Amino acid sequence: NDRLYLQVQITRYGNGEQLMLVRDVTHVRQLEQMRKDFVANVSHELRTPLTVIAGYLEPMLEHADEVNPRWRRPLQQMQQQAERMKNLLDDLLLLARLEANDNQQLRQPVEVEPLLQAIVKDAQILSGADEHRILLDAEPDLALKGNEAELSSAFSNLVYNAVKYTPPGGEIRLRWWSDRDGAHLSVQDTGIGIESRHLTRLTERFYRVDASRSASTGGTGLGLAIVKHALIHHNGRLEIASEPGKGSLFTCHFPATQLMEGRALGNAS
Ligand code: ADP
Repeated sequence: NDRLYLQVQITRYGNGEQLMLVRDVTHVRQLEQMRKDFVANVSHELRTPLTVIAGYLEPMLEHADEVNPRWRRPLQQMQQQAERMKNLLDDLLLLARLEANDNQQLRQPVEVEPLLQAIVKDAQILSGADEHRILLDAEPDLALKGNEAELSSAFSNLVYNAVKYTPPGGEIRLRWWSDRDGAHLSVQDTGIGIESRHLTRLTERFYRVDASRSASTGGTGLGLAIVKHALIHHNGRLEIASEPGKGSLFTCHFPATQLMEGRALGNAS
């Protein structure tokens, strides 16, 4: 479109004089938009052939033993990789939608406590034989104005990460509470932790601390980017604290204005 984007920088000097620098950044913004559109379009176009491939793999696997038992393993691997690719495309599309929606108003009430309970249930299944202890301490009737699917993706990414990066038997603790500043969700684990030099870059697309370990956990490398953008869309922000070998603490902060009206704020610290 024909919008003009200007970047303005004002410098004030001691003698009262001011210097104003105006830079035309329209071209930069247009390139960025083209990149976003391209990623969204490619992701969308790749989904259809992938669905066809995955669709054929299922019956082939079912009959593999009758036709040739040696096909079973390669077919299983193909199915796993197709599933991984589907997750990646879903995440890319979700991210593209989040970036495109940044200005949209969010008014639907989202009850967070039941959402977290459902996520904990799924996380327990993901944990499986690893038997993590997953604890939930949530203020009931504390609802956000927002988009339930986006918040659900954001919160489940944090909880599934806690499961993925915590050795068997570890503990994962979720807290959802309000105070004078607004509402907060924290996800704390006793997992492998993250070195401080990585913390500022964690929410970048595809940024991974340890590529080999992350690949084996089946992640897409987009999880925390999705969390960041879903929170921005809800006027919130993500805070990360971590210590290698001790565990990590991810906290989502939402301003009081993002809470449904008529809800009293708690006094918890
Ligand atoms: P991935 O799909 O690789 O998990 P994410 O964007 O969700 O991608 O996370 C980015 C990286 O941050 C991960 O690869 C991992 O190294 C690190 N990370 C995320 N959550 C945790 C956690 N709870 N404990 C330790 N490391 C984590």
